[in-house]
Amino acid sequence: MQDLTQTQPTTFPDSAARLGQAGAANYPGLDAWRSLPISQQPSWQDEGVYQASVKELSALPPLVFAGEVDVLRERLAQAAQGKAFLLQGGDCAETFDAATADRISARVRTILQMAVVLTYGASLPVIKMGRMAGQFAKPRSSNDETRDGVTLPAYRGDMVNGYDFTPESRGHDASRLVKAYHTSASTLNLIRAFTQGGFADLRLVHHWNKGFTQNPAHARYESLAAEIDRAIRFMEACGSDFEALKRTEFFASHEALLLDYERALTRIDSRTGNPYATSGHFLWIGERTRQLDSAHVDFLSRVRNPIGVKLGPTTTGDDALRLIDKLDPNREPGRLTFITRMGAENIRQKLPALVQKVTDSGAQVLWVTDPMHGNTVTSPNGYKTRRFDDVIDEVRGFFEVHQGLGTFPGGMHVEMTGDDVAECLGGADPVDEEAFLTRYESVCDPRLNHMQSLEMAFLVSGALSQASR
Ligand code: PEP
Ligand code: MN
Repeated sequence: MQDLTQTQPTTFPDSAARLGQAGAANYPGLDAWRSLPISQQPSWQDEGVYQASVKELSALPPLVFAGEVDVLRERLAQAAQGKAFLLQGGDCAETFDAATADRISARVRTILQMAVVLTYGASLPVIKMGRMAGQFAKPRSSNDETRDGVTLPAYRGDMVNGYDFTPESRGHDASRLVKAYHTSASTLNLIRAFTQGGFADLRLVHHWNKGFTQNPAHARYESLAAEIDRAIRFMEACGSDFEALKRTEFFASHEALLLDYERALTRIDSRTGNPYATSGHFLWIGERTRQLDSAHVDFLSRVRNPIGVKLGPTTTGDDALRLIDKLDPNREPGRLTFITRMGAENIRQKLPALVQKVTDSGAQVLWVTDPMHGNTVTSPNGYKTRRFDDVIDEVRGFFEVHQGLGTFPGGMHVEMTGDDVAECLGGADPVDEEAFLTRYESVCDPRLNHMQSLEMAFLVSGALSQASR
């Protein structure tokens, strides 16, 4: 069941209450979470640094504009109604060191490629969203990590502490909140430049494949890209105007885990007077923090952003209905996304009752599959991994369940990268556990590499074209 063992008070309750006044000052309810049970929060070492960091965040410019957030809500409403598909992907945990142009560009290109494969296969608009520009805090199942008899605090993401296994690095340092903000800002700046400045032009569909290792998925993508080229040349010859192909929408999302960070970046929209979390367009509540009367659910119920909730195999139909009442009381399409992560072995048994109950209640949520987090295993040589076949099997199960119920499988949430890492086992050019020794780079959960990501997009595009018919 969910991890309640780490329920704890805010680290510095007095300064927290005072700091709550900064940013969206006095808007009713935005600080109600401070008196509720909260789990998975850091124990900051230094109160002065904590105060200064939260104060600084409260005064910094928003990372996203409320108008963009509203556009995303409309796009997600389309997906909830079966008229679009959400593709959400990125690292389990972004790191400050990996926020380089090369890494960001490879991830964005891979998402664009996956989106093209899905759009072409299913003739459906694909909403592109990164687990990017803010995915710096991680919930953990244990507070500590022991190596060779030495026990230190667990790594909780670069926003909290460092990955190096030393007491200095593993201490919880609140100045990292500000560094996370700036790293998110520069990441988002590059994403905006790529997707608005011509890099994402659909006429460069071949170009996105360059620089990636040759492999079966690569070749299949090349032939699809050639078909798209032909179609574009044909339409151009007929006089169509392709200005719209130059740019693409791309949204940023992360798990809203550290509520001090989220609260400090919450702003009142000058157009509507409503509060928006401006740290990203879409925020989700993790499987470990989705308790109904807890701080995370309360806080996110009060911002206007579209919100996701991860639902694991212990979720009951009643849990789902109560989450809807709390997070989407007006039953507004696009507001609430349920991201199911049941595990390949559970999906076909557990998902139907949940979907049925929600459908019967008249609520319209967006159903998205996360085929990663229910399928994590440890390899014999000690690495956290996932079998590509299990991941695919959960996706298939997700599509089957929705087909059986006549509901729409509206999206997919994956941990992936554009790099040629070896973290998940299998795929058409199979990764084996020996490869982990030299190409395992993740500081948290295992990601699909570039080729496994493309392969998955091809597999899903087939299922999606059936579902959207
Ligand atoms: C994650 O998305 O990295 C994560 C921790 O997921 P979940 O909350 O579903 O376990
Ligand atoms: Mn993860």
